[in-house]
Amino acid sequence: CGIVGIVGHTPVAPLIVDALKRLEYRGYDSAGVATIEHGELARRRAEGKLVNLERKLHAEPLDGTIGIGHTRWATHGVPNETNAHPHFSNGVAIVHNGIIENFAELRDELIADGYNFASQTDTEVVAHLVSREMARGAKPVEAAHKALKRLEGAFALAIMFKGDEDLIVGARNGPPLAVGHGEGEMYLGSDAIALAPFTNSITYLEDGDWAVVRRNEIAIFDMDGNKVERKRQQSIGTS
Ligand code: GLU
Repeated sequence: CGIVGIVGHTPVAPLIVDALKRLEYRGYDSAGVATIEHGELARRRAEGKLVNLERKLHAEPLDGTIGIGHTRWATHGVPNETNAHPHFSNGVAIVHNGIIENFAELRDELIADGYNFASQTDTEVVAHLVSREMARGAKPVEAAHKALKRLEGAFALAIMFKGDEDLIVGARNGPPLAVGHGEGEMYLGSDAIALAPFTNSITYLEDGDWAVVRRNEIAIFDMDGNKVERKRQQSIGTS
């Protein structure tokens, strides 16, 4: 399973699929990609091999220049298209590796608050938590931070917002997640191998870190919201 995110300047869906292929060695049962198309979230998802997702993208291409992608190894909910990531909630798109241990409690709380669940995954609570914070008035970054503080368990996450085409929020607590530094283009991925086609300048997040990734800057914070410095390293090889 794996995660890829690109804040770019050309259509990113094909790049994301190529990066996901480099994560195939981790195993997966389904895959998906989301971009922002003319101001709206759009996604393609498919059960099985990445070639199934590629076929869908070939028939119905995505042109957005910002996007997130995922290969899923199902833990909660069968491996089908409905449970495949990205998951959406009111303009918030999310991909997740790992397990949200307190998802049942969060799900009950969100259902009581009027949120409808489209999937059987533990992941979908994160999408609704972030969008609920935005409905309560928080801006995207603040909404993501507030939602992250509610999560227990293991996660690598990438979050995209339809109202900000220059922002992906990444977070790590357990499964690895790295940010990649480019020129006017930034990346997020489960490891340096996924990002090797784009950059060899990598910063691994530490557990409890979350990152604000924009075309021209990356900032990393701890769970209290303090900015932290993490080592930038050169990964070996560029392709
Ligand atoms: N727990 C999530 C799910 O079942 C994510 C699984 C993964 O790591 O790919 O959808």
